[in-house]
Order: sequence, then C-alpha cells, then structure tokens
Amino acid sequence: MPCEQHVPESPDRLRRHVQLVLTDSSEGFRVHELDRWSRNNSSQFPTYSREDEYPMDYGSYQVGQSQDPLRISPFLVLPTMKSSMCQRSILHCHGNPAIERDAPSAAPGPAIAPALHTPGRRCLATQAQQSAATQESDDKRERVVILGSGWGGYTLSRRLSPKTYAPLILSPRSYFVFTPLLTNTASGSLDFSNIVEPVRDPRSKVDFIQGAARGVNLKKKTVLCEATVVKSGVTESPRTLEEHRGTEEGPETRNQQPMQPYLQWEQGEMFEVPYDKLVIAVGAVSRTFGTPGVRENAMFFKDIGDAKRVKRRVRECFELAVLPFTTPEMRKWLLNFAIVGAGPTGIELAASLRDFIYSDLMVLYPSLNEIPKITLYDVAPKVLSMFDESLSRYAMETMKREGVDIKTSHHVKSLRWGAPGAPPPYHMDPKRCLTLTTEEDGELGVGMCVWVTGNAMPKFITESLESVDEFPANSVHSIEGSSTVTTDAEKAPWKFKKAPKEGPLLVDGYLRVQLQNEKGQTAVLRDVFALGDNAMPEKGAPPATAQATSQEAKWLANRLNKNDVGQTPPFSFRDLGTMAYIGDERALMQIPHSGDGGASSFLPEGIKGRTASLIWKTAYISMSISWRNKLRVAFRWMLNRFFGRDISRF
Ligand SMILES: Cc1cc2nc3c(=O)[nH]c(=O)nc-3n(C[C@H](O)[C@H](O)[C@H](O)COP(=O)(O)OP(=O)(O)OC[C@H]3O[C@@H](n4cnc5c(N)ncnc54)[C@H](O)[C@@H]3O)c2cc1C
Repeated sequence: MPCEQHVPESPDRLRRHVQLVLTDSSEGFRVHELDRWSRNNSSQFPTYSREDEYPMDYGSYQVGQSQDPLRISPFLVLPTMKSSMCQRSILHCHGNPAIERDAPSAAPGPAIAPALHTPGRRCLATQAQQSAATQESDDKRERVVILGSGWGGYTLSRRLSPKTYAPLILSPRSYFVFTPLLTNTASGSLDFSNIVEPVRDPRSKVDFIQGAARGVNLKKKTVLCEATVVKSGVTESPRTLEEHRGTEEGPETRNQQPMQPYLQWEQGEMFEVPYDKLVIAVGAVSRTFGTPGVRENAMFFKDIGDAKRVKRRVRECFELAVLPFTTPEMRKWLLNFAIVGAGPTGIELAASLRDFIYSDLMVLYPSLNEIPKITLYDVAPKVLSMFDESLSRYAMETMKREGVDIKTSHHVKSLRWGAPGAPPPYHMDPKRCLTLTTEEDGELGVGMCVWVTGNAMPKFITESLESVDEFPANSVHSIEGSSTVTTDAEKAPWKFKKAPKEGPLLVDGYLRVQLQNEKGQTAVLRDVFALGDNAMPEKGAPPATAQATSQEAKWLANRLNKNDVGQTPPFSFRDLGTMAYIGDERALMQIPHSGDGGASSFLPEGIKGRTASLIWKTAYISMSISWRNKLRVAFRWMLNRFFGRDISRF
C-alpha cells in the first residue's frame, strides 16, 4: 500500500530539485526548515501518493545558492516509500512532531525506519535543537553506539576521545544512577536527584537516543531500537513474569495477569541505528529463581523508580497502620518489612530503612512504638559472605542489636497478597498486607517485600542476542586462532557465546563479544564489545559490581583511544576493597592486601564502626560523578543531622 506524503508545491518541482541535489555535496538536513518553509508558502499541500515518484535514496543534500527557500535550506530527501514503510514512523523517527501532525495517517503497525545516519558521520544530539535523528555533518569520526546509560555505558561514553570517536548512548533511561547511594534515597537521607546524572550534558560530546535496543544485525552493523521516550515505568524494574513480558522496561504490575496488550501510545516506534563500533552494557535484572508470586508482588531495587516505590510503600504502611479501623494484627503485619537477600544491597537497605524508621518515623508515630520490624532473609548461613568472618559477624551482631531481624538459612517459598491464612483468590490490595511464606517459619504477614537476591540477564541478552542470522565476516577478528574467515565458517549457524544457563555474554580478555558454532569454533568480533553485569570475561571474571564495571569501561576507553585493542595485556580487575553501611552511622570496610607491599599495605585489612562509616561517606562523596552532586550529597547528609531525613510521600 503506498504511503501518502506531503510535498511542497508540485511533485515535479520537488523531483527537479532532487535531481539537482543528488549531484550536490551534503551538508545535513533539517526537517523543520522544510516544514516551516512549506507552511509559510503554501496553505494547500498537494498530496503525493505514488511511491515510485519518490527519490530512491536516503540521504541529505544541499542545493546550491538560490533565492528559493527550498533550495537554500538543507532539506530531507524523502525516502523511497516502500509499502512496508509508513510515513508516520519515519517522520516521528526524525523527531519532528510538527511534520508528523501534518502528515496523513500512517499505515498501522510498527514499521522500522533507519535513523538517518551515514556510517562514519556523526549526529550531535546533546542539544535539543540538534536531534540525533535529524542532524548530520561531515564528521568522519567513528560512531560508537553504546547500549545502556549505567556504570558501563555512561563511564565509557565520557572517556572516549572526542577527536576520534562520536559516542552515542542508546538507553531507555536518560540518566545515570549512582547505585551505591540508592538505598539512601529510599530512606529519605538523599533526594532522588542527588544521585542521578543526566546523559545529555552540554559539556559532553555524547549523543543520546532514548530507546531500548531490541536486536543487533552484525552483518549490517545496525542496532534495532524501540523509542521509549513516553513509555511508562522505565525507571522501575519490570514485575511481570518473564514469559509474559513484551519488553524489559515498565512496571507491568497488573496483578498476576499475563501482560495486557500495550496501550497504543506505549508502543514505541522501531528504527535502526548504524554503528562502527558497538558496546553492550545493558546491565542485569533481578533474579527471582522462579519463586511463585515474587515477580508480580515483590519490589525490586535497581533504579530510581524502585527506590521511590519502596519509600512510598513504607510511608503508606505507617499511614495505614494508624487508621482507626486497622486491627492490631494487621498493624503488626503492615509494619513488618521483609528484605530477601543479605548481600551488600540487602544489608544497606535494611540498615538505611532502620535509620529512617527508628530515627525519623517513630517520632511522628509514637503510638506505633516497638511495632515496626525489619526482617532480612537469606538462604546462606551468614550475611556479607564477601567480607572476612569477623566483619560479617560484627555486621550481624550490630544489626540485630539495632533491631533488624536477620534470618539466615531461610528459604522463601512464595509471596502473595492477603493476610496469612486468608483463603484465595489473592488479588492485589495495597490497603492490606502481603504474605511471605518460608520453609522454616511458614506464613508471615508483611507490609512490603524487597527482593535483592542477585542478577539475571535481561531479555535483550537472553533472547535478542541468541542466534546470528548472517555471519558477519567483515567484523570477525579471528576464528579459533585462525585469522582468515573461510566460506565454510560463513555457512555454519553461529550463536552469541554466553555463560551457561542464560548467563552473561562470554567475552575475551579484551571485552570483545564472541560467537560460537556447533563445531565448537569461536569467532571473536573486532567491533562489538560487552562490559558490566551483562558480560563475563572468559578468564579472570571480576565481580558484578560498579567498581569492576567502571574499571572495564575506563580500560576499554583507553584501549579504543590508543587503538591498541589486542596488543596490550588483557583487562584485569583490581580489587580496591569493599564497603557496606550497616546502620546507626556504622559501616564495614574490607581492604585487600596483595602482599606485594602495595599502596594499601599500611592499612588494616578490615575497618568497622564509625570510622568506617566516615570513610564510607567520604568515599561516596568523592566518587559521585559531578561536583553538583558531590556538594548536594555532602550538604544533605549534614542537613539531615539538624532537620532529619525527608519523610514526604509522593
Ligand atoms: C542498589 C544497588 C547498590 C549497589 N551498590 C554497589 C556498590 O556499593 N558498589 C559496587 O561496586 N556496586 C554496587 N552495585 C552494583 C552496580 O550498580 C552494578 O554492578 C553496575 O550498575 C553494573 O553496571 P552496568 O553498566 O553493567 O549496568 P547498569 O548500571 O545497571 O546499567 C544498565 C543500563 O542499560 C540500560 N538498558 C537496559 N536495557 C536496555 C536495552 N535493551 N537497550 C539499551 N539500554 C538498556 C538501562 O536502562 C541502564 O541504563 C549496586 C547495585 C544496586 C542495584
């Protein structure tokens, strides 16, 4: 079905110009200029509906000098309107709502439109008026498309040499989150904005498109993306069952139902972004081990939206508890907050919530004295297993003394809405409690259950990066030691190489993504890299932490800047130590001693208590990315001493 298209003045005139411009040098295009000119000069646009009348190429051209506004403005050469393409998607992809509004209605269903980039050219998108999809230049720098704006993607993008590379971040999140301080925001110690950095920054030379990668074509060197600018809930971890989830983003909280069909407006436009080099840093999602009811009813804790939900629910439970008709039993359940997973995140969340509740909320709710309770569950026999035995024991004793109930060697069986013992059906009812069932204690009423047990791979890694449609011979660095790509290799079915059981991408020592085939051959890609939680070097894999991810990102940026990937020693992780806040202004700090008399050898191996808390705070202030946030964090912590934490509920 041919798509209709508005064309200024007559089709013949446009064709004439197109023939002219095709011989001319390119300068970029601006859809809005064409649009403005058209609207100023003609109230009635003829509608052009014959697809073969359109020029046969994508591109952007400038006509030579002329008084004709159409000719002096750089303008868009309209793409061939094949029946599978729809006008709306293409124009929307160019990011011009004005044109989209004028355009006739589009063919239904998602269409894929290439983002108008010529490989080797760069779009400057950090300023609003220069959208990545609407601006081109003669830039010959290599385009590095980075998937993800987290520790890996954000750090790498800021370190790449702007002289050599044109980085473009593609992420559903338009900001970076300083995750070590996320627990502080959930407990009102910091504002949410204190720990985020916008990806768009006038001082950085990094482009940005707000969208999620849905696939990669290694042969064509393009990423298939879905725009997520107006998608709801991209700041929260998804909560529906994996198999019911259409995409990775969005809370999708419809209680225990398979995911409902998307709202029409939530369906993002699909488009392609070409790359010269690709870096995959999409992170991980929360692992639930298939525990019934957890994906739908638990809260996860990975992003700003999650922290907001936790804080809001805690405040909600306190307000529900003091309603005159709330029974004493329900009050006790509502004020029992369960955290599953006693790793550093679980411990720090329990500690921060404990401070929030006992120091700030109890002053407001004196009638609830002694009722609130925080319970920490873990299947392991001890907490914080990455710390020395003495530090981990100190953490358990201190937290127990502070009122956190630590239940190690406990196995969570299920989580559902409704009070313990209540008959089914168990529909979501936030006015009441949930029931957490453990093998050891049976049913227990809880006001909230936060699930922080570890990482699973996102759908993009498990499903989109699975089999390879066409073998990317030009991108292959080597196949199992051989540097030539044979025709046989091209024909064999190849898959992305991953760790077993839907694990992360198995990269080589230089963080290069690898493919493997059924014959057991491994092909190393020269222009696709992966780092952070979604990647694992085959040898010497570092832990899935921000510390390791940012080291990988800095290392890769250095290698790319020096153009010596493969010619230096491979990446190796340097353990700088581990810290955890355990509440009441106390913390733990484990300092690694390499035994070689290095910089840390004069320090003790473990520091605990208030000294460690002071170091913890200083370290995180200094590690915060921008000066604005360093100062805001420092001031907020100081202000909290005088005015208490922020108890507001949004
Ligand atoms: C609460 C909390 C506290 C933590 N504390 C510490 C700590 O104190 N010290 C420490 O070392 N580590 C800590 N970590 C771990 C650390 O945050 C992670 O290891 C780190 O974030 C991993 O970085 P990443 O870049 O791989 O992923 P992330 O930082 O998670 O970033 C992933 C990015 O990819 C984007 N994305 C997702 N899907 C797509 C897609 N399809 N297409 C494009 N983009 C996509 C996401 O929106 C996000 O921007 C903590 C983690 C959490 C959750």
